[in-house]
Amino acid sequence: MGRAFVYVILGGGVAAGYAALEFTQRGISHGELCIISEEPVVPYERPALSKGFLLPEDPARLPSFHTCVGANEERLTPKWYREHGIELVLGTRVKSADVRRKTLLTATGETISYKILIIATGAQALKLEEFGVSGSDAENVCYLRDLADATRIVNVMQSCAGGDAVVIGGGYIGMECAASLVINKINVTMVFPEAHCMARLFTPKIASYYEDYYKSKGVKFIKGTVLSSFEMDSSGKVTAVNLRDGSQLPADMVVVGIGIRPNTSLFEGQLTLEKGGIKVNGRLQSSNSSVYAVGDVAAFPVKLFGETRRLEHVDSARKSARHVVAAIMEPDKTGEFDYLPFFYSRVFTFSWQFYGDNVGEIVHYGDYSGGTFGAYWVSKGQLVGSFLEGGTKDEYEAIAKATRLKPEIEDLAELERQGLGFALAV
Ligand code: FAD
Ligand code: NDP
Repeated sequence: MGRAFVYVILGGGVAAGYAALEFTQRGISHGELCIISEEPVVPYERPALSKGFLLPEDPARLPSFHTCVGANEERLTPKWYREHGIELVLGTRVKSADVRRKTLLTATGETISYKILIIATGAQALKLEEFGVSGSDAENVCYLRDLADATRIVNVMQSCAGGDAVVIGGGYIGMECAASLVINKINVTMVFPEAHCMARLFTPKIASYYEDYYKSKGVKFIKGTVLSSFEMDSSGKVTAVNLRDGSQLPADMVVVGIGIRPNTSLFEGQLTLEKGGIKVNGRLQSSNSSVYAVGDVAAFPVKLFGETRRLEHVDSARKSARHVVAAIMEPDKTGEFDYLPFFYSRVFTFSWQFYGDNVGEIVHYGDYSGGTFGAYWVSKGQLVGSFLEGGTKDEYEAIAKATRLKPEIEDLAELERQGLGFALAV
């Protein structure tokens, strides 16, 4: 059994939704495009899962956050895909791919062939087992990547109201889930190996600002150590977490956010990989000319830095998806993907944005006692990265624009003095 399509998007996450919108806006015929996804629902804005979805009151639920509402675009419901003649193969895992034959084999035994394939398989959460700790299957140990995980977190949270949660990992999932747990009146202890939260992006000064606020909300931080094992009761539920430093924490639930692995395995040995992802050129085309890759799974040239990067953030998924469709449908009119890396987060009433690259010397600015504050990164005499907490739309646009222009910085003290004003004046 088999079907054939002109375009197939493998994966039904954020990038798939934005690519579908772009395809229809550029004009495709009914029956030309197929999206295959392991998830049972049409593409949605994954960032909602660690934010609005976990709120105790009036939580976000589908269909409200299907793509592309996150970019203030149309909300693509199952009806929208039907009306646009886009074939959806949902709840179906692709178990092998043959890029020479241009075919995908699904777990249901169907062979789907394509003329052009867009790989948008995203990534999966790293499991504790990969660090030598067993117990991920316990009913109160939670990961967070998809809707099923988020639904599980809500159920586990509700089953231990007022109880203790241990959050493993001080990255994006750890910080956003810890905030959501606190809002749900659960006592939170965060455990991570680094000296401060969000160590890959935040400076110690930025981190300490947020950590102080979390502490004021009752969150405890245990840094510089990792989980070594779980204590379980007879039903297989975790009751406590043992740390490598010898201490033990009682736990009614555990949330693990220790990073991700891009879903490249179907293509290993068939396509060139780099930085853990599928290597693509400025047109987002892989080492096979009929195969493109976007979103978390793609390692693409970031022109601004002159090097290949793999970015695990939603804006990059949205924009690479739109660009790949342009590159496929109008190759002569479409230039190379020229992307300014953009990361953001929202926790409690905080909201920060970061643009560019966090390398070089750091200049902090603004009011770190509760107002608007931020930092610039200056490398080889140029501004290469900008962070801002609590900015207005215009201020965020200003730091984005300034970072893209990479202005020369002669005097760091002067940059510090000007602070946000520097970006606003560029
Ligand atoms: P995904 O959205 O992960 O989609 C991949 C899809 O491929 C999934 O549907 C998956 O089931 C499917 N798939 C994979 N393998 C197969 C297969 N073999 N067969 C069939 N289907 C397959 N980024 C931000 O910038 N800001 C945020 O605030 C933010 N919040 C986040 C919150 C959470 C909880 C998570 C998990 C991520 C968050 N991110 C955020 C990151 C952002 O969601 C990702 O960068 C984005 O989803 C990547 O899009 P993608 O389409 O590449 O992959
Ligand atoms: P991150 O990479 O952000 O953070 C993982 C954290 O876990 C790091 O602090 C890491 O430390 C730490 N860690 C690694 N191994 C262990 C261990 N054995 N025990 C304890 N801690 C450990 O990944 P997340 O899991 O937080 O997020 C998953 C994905 O979701 C990412 O792609 C992220 O971009 C995305 N996401 C993005 C959001 C946003 O942009 N606002 C929000 C939520 C998710 P080290 O640095 O030393 O490895």
